Amino acid sequence: GDAEWTVDDQKLGEALKRHFGHERFRPGQRRIVELAIAGHDQLILMPTGGGKSLTYQLPALLLPGLTVVVSPLIALMHDQVDRLRENGIAATFLNSTLAAGERTRREQAIAQGRMKLLYLSPERLLSEECLAFLEYVQRQGGLSLLAVDEAHCVSEWGHDFRPEYRQLAAVRERFAALPTLALTATATERVRQDILVQLKLRDPHIHIASFDRPNLHYAVLAKDKGAYAELLGRLRRLDGASAIVYCQSRRAVEALAERLVADGLNALPYHAGMAAEMRSRHQTQFLRDDAPVLVATVAFGMGIAKPDVRAVFHYELPRNLEGYYQESGRAGRDGQPADCVLFFSPGDRAKIEYLVAQKSDPHEQRLARSQLAQMLAYAESTVCRRRILLGYFGEALAEADCGGCDNCRSPVATQDRTVDAQKLLSCVARCQERFGLRHIAQVLRGANTQKIRTQGHDRLSTYGIGADLSQAEWLHLGRTLVHQGLLIETTDGYPVLKLNALSWEVLRRQRTVTAARLPARPTSPQPADAA
Ligand code: ADP
Ligand code: ZN
Repeated sequence: GDAEWTVDDQKLGEALKRHFGHERFRPGQRRIVELAIAGHDQLILMPTGGGKSLTYQLPALLLPGLTVVVSPLIALMHDQVDRLRENGIAATFLNSTLAAGERTRREQAIAQGRMKLLYLSPERLLSEECLAFLEYVQRQGGLSLLAVDEAHCVSEWGHDFRPEYRQLAAVRERFAALPTLALTATATERVRQDILVQLKLRDPHIHIASFDRPNLHYAVLAKDKGAYAELLGRLRRLDGASAIVYCQSRRAVEALAERLVADGLNALPYHAGMAAEMRSRHQTQFLRDDAPVLVATVAFGMGIAKPDVRAVFHYELPRNLEGYYQESGRAGRDGQPADCVLFFSPGDRAKIEYLVAQKSDPHEQRLARSQLAQMLAYAESTVCRRRILLGYFGEALAEADCGGCDNCRSPVATQDRTVDAQKLLSCVARCQERFGLRHIAQVLRGANTQKIRTQGHDRLSTYGIGADLSQAEWLHLGRTLVHQGLLIETTDGYPVLKLNALSWEVLRRQRTVTAARLPARPTSPQPADAA
């Protein structure tokens, strides 16, 4: 538009150095900043630690008015504002904890154009009082930009849905002309679409940074009798370097931390049920390298940037793959090699399945079930783990496999599975590409279920032709075909299998399929230094 602000190259680089002390932009940052200054709406996907904040903070400094930042994490908000102020940047936040006098003082500073960045929680922004105030600022020509951090919170398909985020649509309508940046570290294709629609982004520039973290080595180990010794051995071999061990429950955190301490490791527990004072003490001790091992629930980590974590262990199965990517991604922020190890047992799987079945809301149950299926696809896979993780974020692994994960380093023996694959694919075709893997496997095995009878699938020619393989084996083959791109699994709501051109090549015998059989039982290697 005619109000476009332009900034020349040199000036941007100078501002980057002056305000943030950085020598150069990271890939993508410059273009995002330029487009923000030019008034374009944008959706920005960058992994945690990728440098998203800068992409709205720098425009905020170069644009004439105020940039409003919506962030769901109040604690982080204080932190960020403090850090900006230390760098001499005029930033502030408004929330309900402020005394009336202080709030008035801050509002005055904003109204007089003395602030560049205003951080708000969504609840705060949505209050009529706040909206009216911002409208007043806007009438003075004082609003430049809206940045919505953690934008995936608008989507119930993400892992962190927040109903208040839904209402941001109304804010976007009231400030329709205000250029908007939506930022997130986690968004599948479905979540991306939700963000675009909910936040009413107009002709947005979509920036997707790679989610690949080449220095991380992914592995899955059996959580069997030897699992604790394996964990202990690995922690000892880290020789004082930092590691995080995630558990799902507070009780598990306490128990594991105690056991590690009894075995001579300096391990501290961390979970939301602990007294705030002790929790923050443990966090500080870990960050300062006074204690190398932190045993934590997912309560730990949001916004914590310790660069030299050498390993992240998951001692219990996480609920979803997005969460796993985030938590394991806290390893190796410094770019040096680090391990991401998941301990997995079929028992954990049953435990989560049980919890999912307890959910009373069928919609929630469906979401949880599809998230669990994706997590299992990762845990039980015999193909490259990085390929699966990146595939989850809609990113294809460029060349062959990564070469660094457990499945790449010690590949499971594969064999020609073309005939089994043909059985499975033709069953998908006969069921008219309208059913999920579990059902297909049941048809192949000739199961006698209500669903099979009502659909008349017991009369299909593929009914019972796969009774020689177990249900688990069929599920495994199906997932492998999906990972190899020979079969499509839609991920919206009920996962449904569909055929693509490659599936038809297999069916027409123009393509062979090589895949591993399901390992009889996952086995964990013996710890080198048996405890
Ligand atoms: P995100 O919000 O994407 O998780 P941050 O904005 O917190 O990431 O940035 C992560 C770290 O990267 C911060 O320490 C930040 O100072 C640093 N950083 C960002 N941009 C650059 C850059 N161009 N050069 C060097 N460091 C940068
Ligand atoms: Zn690999």
